[in-house]
Amino acid sequence: MVSVVVVGAGVAGLTAARRLVAAGHDVVVLESSARVGGKLHRVAVAGVTVDVGAEAMLNRRPEGVDLAREMGLPIEHPTTASSRIWTRGALRPLPRSLMGVPLDLGQLAASGVLSPEGVERVRREPSLPPEHLVEDVSVGALVDRRFGAEVTDRLVEPLLGGVYAGNARLISAGAAVPQLVSYASRGSVLEQAASAPTAYDRPVFAGIPGGMGQLPEALAAGLTVRTGATVRELRRAVSGFELVVGPTTAPELVAADAVVLATPAAPTARLLSSVAPVAAAALAEVESASMAVVTFAFRAADAPALDATASSGFLVPPVDARRIKASTFSFAKWGWVRTAGGVDGAELLLLRTSLGRYGEATALQAADEELVAWSLADLAEAVGVTARPVDTHVQRWGGGLPQYAVGHLDRIARARAAVAAVPRLALCGAAYDGVGIPAVIASAHRAVAGLGDSP
Ligand SMILES: Cc1cc2nc3c(=O)[nH]c(=O)nc-3n(C[C@H](O)[C@H](O)[C@H](O)COP(=O)(O)OP(=O)(O)OC[C@H]3O[C@@H](n4cnc5c(N)ncnc54)[C@H](O)[C@@H]3O)c2cc1C
Repeated sequence: MVSVVVVGAGVAGLTAARRLVAAGHDVVVLESSARVGGKLHRVAVAGVTVDVGAEAMLNRRPEGVDLAREMGLPIEHPTTASSRIWTRGALRPLPRSLMGVPLDLGQLAASGVLSPEGVERVRREPSLPPEHLVEDVSVGALVDRRFGAEVTDRLVEPLLGGVYAGNARLISAGAAVPQLVSYASRGSVLEQAASAPTAYDRPVFAGIPGGMGQLPEALAAGLTVRTGATVRELRRAVSGFELVVGPTTAPELVAADAVVLATPAAPTARLLSSVAPVAAAALAEVESASMAVVTFAFRAADAPALDATASSGFLVPPVDARRIKASTFSFAKWGWVRTAGGVDGAELLLLRTSLGRYGEATALQAADEELVAWSLADLAEAVGVTARPVDTHVQRWGGGLPQYAVGHLDRIARARAAVAAVPRLALCGAAYDGVGIPAVIASAHRAVAGLGDSP
């Protein structure tokens, strides 16, 4: 048995800690904030406890759903209500796409998302030669070239923005949409996509009734987690490591045989500066985007226009210059939210808006009241809801999502190689192999495997 310190009690750190405990190790998780879960977090809005961070997970890969089931949590899939796109002055159906890259010309043309010239430009994609991609390229640059800038601006930006809160012309195609790169390298994306299967044997997304935030709560239940414990420094010791924890005025030294850093890129870079400076330099290049999620509860009777949309929400391309970048109609997307509660016997409709993208300070600098007012103004214009909400909640996520900028895969390979040279040290979390919950869980499995058996 060896003593392992896991730094960070997000889903990555908690997953790694659980695996290490199951393998018989003595594990302590050190978490700087006052709670576990990181970007998975639930709060009560009008008495209904809902997610104010991540609210769904991909169901097409197994790690998230498997872990939830292992923790005894039920799984619920979103309803069949579909998402829309608020662009060119109307809410429009979202055409079938690969992260915004259109896969169905008929649907695209009927949706009205692009101008007629924009659709014509897409039609010409099959006549283009295959791409010779010797170096990584941004998703936006690749899509601009093959489909025209309108597709990047009106489809790829809002879809990629939903995952990375980033800018399509900066995000790495190889890291974020590898399938697009492989299609484009062989020839026409449209033609290859047309022959790809469209029906899947399972729903694309899954959630947990009561909220995704229950996953870290369940994971933490059997673990030793110290909250309010900020790790400020990591050093090599004669055997193993020494961590400097807590305020500079009263630092505490914690010894460990092995360490897993499950923190976002910026604190991980700082912590690696003496033990793995090459990795620290690579991770310091990974920037992040800040955002805010505003949750609203309306009385159903006050907001008939909301229910009438029969949609799970909408995305907003940045080119349309609105304040919000998306709204998720949680009441329509999740059966459990719809039935979760009410105020004084009146049915409630809960929904959320998100604001803030990479490079914008809006989400962090505006006052809560402004974020609420901007969201309500956009909701009024998009869906005609003018009612006053019975409750609101503003959640800020400073540095919430890492940016997988062009060159990301190389950057991470450099960081991983440098860390692999330090025995009994491993990294996991959203900065590496994907920001979605299943990818983050997989990174935790990989970190534990990388520590070896002892570990
Ligand atoms: C608003 C929002 C919505 C999202 N929606 C979805 C979604 O619907 N589906 C999906 O799959 N993904 C979603 N994501 C992405 C996903 O939630 C995250 O990528 C994932 O939860 C990250 O987990 P993590 O453990 O890597 O990091 P985090 O959750 O960031 O956890 C890291 C932890 O480390 C702690 N920490 C940092 N520095 C230190 C230190 N020096 N010492 C000690 N502790 C430290 C932090 O306090 C934090 O608790 C969303 C993200 C955001 C921000």
